[in-house]
Amino acid sequence: MTAQTRDPGPARPVPVIEIRNLHKSYGNLEVLKGVDMVAPKGHVVSLIGSSGSGKSTLLRCANLLEDSQDGEILFEGEAVRWRGEGLARQPADKAQVIRIRTNLSMVFQQFNLWSHMTILQNVMEAPVTVLGRPRAEVEEAARRYLAKVGIGDKCDAYPAQLSGGQQQRAAIARALCMEPRALLFDEPTSALDPELEQEVVRVIKALAEEGRTMLLVTHDMRMAADVSDHVIFLHQGRIEEEGPPDRLFGAPQTDRLRQFLSATA
Ligand code: ADP
Ligand code: MG
Repeated sequence: MTAQTRDPGPARPVPVIEIRNLHKSYGNLEVLKGVDMVAPKGHVVSLIGSSGSGKSTLLRCANLLEDSQDGEILFEGEAVRWRGEGLARQPADKAQVIRIRTNLSMVFQQFNLWSHMTILQNVMEAPVTVLGRPRAEVEEAARRYLAKVGIGDKCDAYPAQLSGGQQQRAAIARALCMEPRALLFDEPTSALDPELEQEVVRVIKALAEEGRTMLLVTHDMRMAADVSDHVIFLHQGRIEEEGPPDRLFGAPQTDRLRQFLSATA
């Protein structure tokens, strides 16, 4: 059969994020050693692994907050263009980087809210100043997202007046207000007391249920098991094992994953 007559089969939707053979070093330290990863639209992919295994680095590379030395990063099928090689490799197109980064909103462990701004101002800041969207429209969306995460009554409060769980929910509302194609979470519950952790877990679960595309770094195996479509176990910069949560948590195949799970239980 020639290429022209071959039936291509059902079209595979283009993933929001695709990473192929990614290598990342800090100086002489190779942190990611050839990682392949796909975040399909509407799916939640969780990254688990010991401290130092490269989870945050992978998230930051996906978001183009870090350069990488080899491999490809594709956003909705569009490959990041690079120039230079090795430690000098950098994205070649600033506008492309900004476009991709504003479509992948990040939520950090330490919330990173502006302390001198109210919660509403925090949520409105980037859509207005970075995206240039009309203030009135952004304010309406910001109030809607703050209500959605359960802190609609905190619009005029300052971050210091909120609990950690409320601050993290404000940070999630801020990420949502960018109307991103995917949300990237880096240990969103690690800085919280256990009783406040659950209110953030509930918000993340609700986002998963409404079909948001998410990349989630977490130490919370219960949350990973609950919300993920796919779980990736990183070990020393390589994917040691991956699969659906039932299999990864229920029937781990490698000694390293078994050890990791028994240490975190
Ligand atoms: P994880 O999030 O899984 O705990 P990280 O991605 O933060 O792991 O770190 C992976 C490795 O890269 C660690 O050895 C860490 O010390 C190193 N590393 C992370 N960030 C930097 C940096 N900015 N400069 C140098 N080394 C770094
Ligand atoms: Mg980390």
